[in-house]
Amino acid sequence: MTTATEAGHDHRDAADETGAISRQEFEADAREFLKAHAAERMEEDFVWGEGSDNVSLLPERMPEQDLADLAVAREWARTVYDAGFGWISGPTAYGGRGLHRDYQAIYNSVARDYDTPSMSAYGIGLGMVAPTILAHATEEVKQAYLAAMHRGDIVACQLFSEPGSGSDLASLQTRAVKDGDEWIVNVQKVWTSGAQFSDIGEVICRTDPDLPKHRGLTGFVVDMHAPGVEVRPLRQMTGGASFNEVFFTDVRIPDSHRLGDVNGGWTVALTTLMNERAAIGGGGGGVGLPTTTRIIEMIRALGRAGDPLIRQQLASVIINERVASYTNLRAMAKIAVGQLPGPEMSLAKLSLTANMLRTSDLVSSVLGASITADTGTWGTYAWSDYVLSAPGMRIAGGTDEVLRNVLGERVLGLPKEPPVA
Ligand SMILES: Cc1cc2nc3c(=O)[nH]c(=O)nc-3n(C[C@H](O)[C@H](O)[C@H](O)COP(=O)(O)OP(=O)(O)OC[C@H]3O[C@@H](n4cnc5c(N)ncnc54)[C@H](O)[C@@H]3O)c2cc1C
Repeated sequence: MTTATEAGHDHRDAADETGAISRQEFEADAREFLKAHAAERMEEDFVWGEGSDNVSLLPERMPEQDLADLAVAREWARTVYDAGFGWISGPTAYGGRGLHRDYQAIYNSVARDYDTPSMSAYGIGLGMVAPTILAHATEEVKQAYLAAMHRGDIVACQLFSEPGSGSDLASLQTRAVKDGDEWIVNVQKVWTSGAQFSDIGEVICRTDPDLPKHRGLTGFVVDMHAPGVEVRPLRQMTGGASFNEVFFTDVRIPDSHRLGDVNGGWTVALTTLMNERAAIGGGGGGVGLPTTTRIIEMIRALGRAGDPLIRQQLASVIINERVASYTNLRAMAKIAVGQLPGPEMSLAKLSLTANMLRTSDLVSSVLGASITADTGTWGTYAWSDYVLSAPGMRIAGGTDEVLRNVLGERVLGLPKEPPVA
């Protein structure tokens, strides 16, 4: 069997920069840990009609299920962190292990051989908020939250969008006003994923309405259990309620919980948005994408495998999936050598969501009316969840249109969009 280290790092078998552990030893430790705490993943032979037919992209859970899943994820996060695999490349000063980033890739590669709980509740916190805290927070906040977030003790959400500000995030209106050593925050955020079970949130507020819009913003870490924070669930068209409206009424935030400089919030927001695009484009944003095998078997089972138009649509999905995975590899390689994720991340996210649309069109062509009414046939109506949640993925983390603007301007060098008055 080829090991993860042999496959990726046979030219580098020296210990990491701290001299603590070689890549081979680390991989052996990771395998030993996972073997002791998780079941080995069986080779999945997809058989039409067997097992779950769920292909939803967004969580469709009831609140009790949310809490039960979170308890399982939290237990696993603690076990992983306490064994030294919870924040492998994080600085030791904040509870990380201080190893090079590619040790994380080694762990991930080994972990793919084991069945472990879904960690989707932690996706936004660890993928977007924690890197922003590390880059911009005060020492007090880094010490208070980073280790606890990686150990699963704290769940975080991203409080950016408002009813009137999404793509044009810099136009946001939520006000924070300084009062001694504290800031008082009022108004509303919307589409906040996971706010219903979050302990902290990264919020961007307007702190100087007289400055140009990008320059009057400030970022904060807010306690989601503080007086004046109210979370109201929003139901999505698939039936679940995975995001929320969040209202702030005179919520007090200590100045020590400010991220970056006063009125320097745009830089803070960009750190989070870059990481968000990387998380969604690189890993599907925590969504479990249905495999091509599942789609092919559905086409066979419904007797459409000989239809030339269906075959053409399927070929397009498979080719584009392959191209997107190569784009991701290029972007991930950049990140692995410590470079900032750039326009490749916009391209990766756009490729992913464009293929979701192709997949929706393909399964709709195959399933016809059975995608709109449940006849009880396995693996048919279940696709309605996918078709109804795919549009949301084309909006979250930068809409398709906005990402095309980014690519047009930053990759193709086209003239910039005229500013909106
Ligand atoms: C599944 C999901 C999860 C989300 N989770 C979070 C979260 O956790 N936290 C959070 O803060 N937000 C979250 N959001 C909100 C998301 O960031 C916004 O919906 C997104 O930024 C778009 O903003 P908007 O909805 O206000 O649409 P708008 O910005 O009003 O856009 C409306 C339409 O106009 C187009 N458009 C806008 N500007 C331009 C332009 N310059 N050029 C061309 N076309 C343009 C858009 O592409 C879109 O089609 C989530 C959204 C979804 C769908």
